Amino acid sequence: MEKSKVYFTDMHVTENENLLQKLKRLLYKAGIEQIDFEKKFTAIKLHFGEPGNLAYLRPNYARAVADVVRELNGIPFLTDCNTLYVGERKNAIDHLNSAYVNGFSPFSTGCQILIGDGLKGTDETLVPVEGGEYVKEAKIGHAIMDADVILSLTHFKMHEATGIGGTLKNIGMGCGSRAGKMEMHSSGKPHVVQDLCVGCGTCRKSCAHDAITIADRKASIDHEKCVGCGRCIGACPRDAVVPGIGNSNEILGKKMAEYSCAVLLGRPQFHISLVVDVSPFCDCYPSNDVPIVPDIGMFASFDPVALDVACANAVNSQPVNSGSLLDGKHRDSGDIFTDMHPTTDWMVTIRHAEKLGLGSSEYDLIKI
Ligand code: SF4
Ligand code: SF4
Repeated sequence: MEKSKVYFTDMHVTENENLLQKLKRLLYKAGIEQIDFEKKFTAIKLHFGEPGNLAYLRPNYARAVADVVRELNGIPFLTDCNTLYVGERKNAIDHLNSAYVNGFSPFSTGCQILIGDGLKGTDETLVPVEGGEYVKEAKIGHAIMDADVILSLTHFKMHEATGIGGTLKNIGMGCGSRAGKMEMHSSGKPHVVQDLCVGCGTCRKSCAHDAITIADRKASIDHEKCVGCGRCIGACPRDAVVPGIGNSNEILGKKMAEYSCAVLLGRPQFHISLVVDVSPFCDCYPSNDVPIVPDIGMFASFDPVALDVACANAVNSQPVNSGSLLDGKHRDSGDIFTDMHPTTDWMVTIRHAEKLGLGSSEYDLIKI
C-alpha cells in the first residue's frame, strides 16, 4: 500500500499564532477542505473525559475543529457513545452532564452534543464487516452512522488493554454501542454480581429475551437466552449487572480494528490526534497520573492507521518524564507502551486494520 501523509505541528507558539490557530492551519495544510462539507452533518468523535480526569482534550480544541467545519459550510456536532462500565458516562443523561462538567457546551464549542447510541446505549446500527474474522456485524451508535462525514479528535495516550489510546481506539471502541463494546471485550454476555443485587426486577423488565430470572431476591442471567444487547446493564439501579470480560488483549485489539472498519470504510473522514498529557491510562478513569513523556504536538491525516503509528513513534522517540510511573524503570522492550503495559501490543490493532484495508502503517511525516 502507498505511503500515507501525516501532518504535524509542535506545541510552540508565536506572537501571531496561538495553539488553536495553529491547529486550524494544520487541518487546512493537511487538506481537510478536500472533503465536501456543504450542508453535511459532521460527527466529531471525541472523549468528553470522565469527571475527575484532567488529561482529556479541552473543549477549546473541539471548538477549533468545529469552526473549520463551519467555515467549509458543514454542520458539526460532538459525539461519543455510552460506556460499558459503571461510571459517569453510562447513559446519555449522565454522559451529557459529564460533558458539561468538563466544559463542553454549545457556548464553549459552538455546537450541539449527540450521544451516539442514545439514552441507554441501545440505539445502534448494525454494520457488516467485510473480511471480519471476529465480527460479522458491528453494533455502532446510530447517530454516528447517520452522519454524512466523520472526523475524529483524539487525545493520544496510553491504554492498559490496547497499549495506545489513539484514533483506532477512539473510533473502534468509542463508536460501539453498549452491546458493541461488550462484543469487543468479551463473548458478549453480562452477569449479575449477587452481592449488589437487591432483587428489584428492573433488569428482568428491560430484557426482551426473557433471559433474566429472580429467585430468593437475586437476579441471574441465562446465557442460552441472552443475546448480549446490554440493556440490563444500563437498567440496573444498583450497577449489579456487569459485562463479562473474557477476551485476550490480542483479540480485543483485532475486534477494535474491525469495528473501526465498520465505522470508517467508504465514508468521508479525517482524523486529528493531539499528543499532549500522555497519561499512562485511559481518560475513562476519574483521575490521571503524571504524563509519561513531554507534550509533543498535533497530528492530522486522512489515514487513521498511519496517524496512530506516527503518534506512537513520536512518543517512543521521547525521554521518559521524571516522576512518571516509568521513571527509573528499565526500557527493555524498546517500546514505551509495552514497558508501561506489558500484556499489550498496540501493533496488533494496526496490523489487523492494515490487513482489512483501513490504511497504511507506512507514512511520510510532513512538518508545518
Ligand atoms: S435490576 Fe439490578 S438490583 Fe434489580 S434485580 Fe436486576 S440485577 Fe438485581
Ligand atoms: S444483555 Fe440483553 S438479552 Fe442479555 S440479559 Fe441483558 S437485557 Fe437480556
